[in-house]
Amino acid sequence: MIKSVVSKEYQELHKEIVKLQEQWKHMLNPETIRPNLDKAAMEAGVPAAALTAIDFEISLFLQWIEEINAILVNGNPELEPKLSGITGLLNEEIAIRWIEEAFAFNHVYFASFADSHGLEGWIPQFLAETALRPYLQLTAEKVQHEIHHSTPGAGCPVCGEPVRLATLKEEGKKVIHCPRCLAHWHAKRLECSHCGNEDHKTIQFLTVEGDAVSQIQVCDTCHGYTKIIDTRQYISQPSAALLDLNSIHLDFVAQENGYHAVGEKKSTN
Ligand SMILES: [Zn+2]
Ligand SMILES: [Zn+2]
Repeated sequence: MIKSVVSKEYQELHKEIVKLQEQWKHMLNPETIRPNLDKAAMEAGVPAAALTAIDFEISLFLQWIEEINAILVNGNPELEPKLSGITGLLNEEIAIRWIEEAFAFNHVYFASFADSHGLEGWIPQFLAETALRPYLQLTAEKVQHEIHHSTPGAGCPVCGEPVRLATLKEEGKKVIHCPRCLAHWHAKRLECSHCGNEDHKTIQFLTVEGDAVSQIQVCDTCHGYTKIIDTRQYISQPSAALLDLNSIHLDFVAQENGYHAVGEKKSTN
């Protein structure tokens, strides 16, 4: 199996963005993020970030979008005319809307925004999501001590991102990591994070030739998958964002085999 299924440029670009997000996070005043966690709501799958008051600094958000644009253009000068007008479109009201819709994974909103402004489909959501993450990551830092498990199917208990990445720690304990907000929590070794299935007959572990540290846990009940990486031998632990990026070959294998990052919901009559 070839590990490099995505281009080196793609990986480098994303690594650069991950590094920037770390710097941006330090520009935020932690006081502007005020979690108000409600145990019952969280048990029901409401992400902590939805229970948090966040004062977004719009000028900073716009500045970050300019910085992302600069990186994108640097990597691919052909993007320049496509990106140059964007900050001009973003007044305070639209910036706030972008933040809200990125948080809610509202692909429909962004697709129609792109459409009505003659932008390539991927651009608005990518920019909004990238500039939103430092807020989510700081929120995760603030609430991490209260995050112990996730509700199957609800995704990350902090930001709602579907589960797709776990590591194995001492004694083979499984820790789920969110590559979006960087929150982490423990899970049972066999449990499917998407549907809660724990039946060993319908849970399988796929391995990939030439990659001794990784497995893909797949569930035949909901057809969801989780990448599991044994990082016990690693000298330094990479951030979940980089781990996710470096293991993208596993996503391809899982998806080629018919599994999805989001499990199928059973219809409840
Ligand atoms: Zn998250
Ligand atoms: Zn499942």
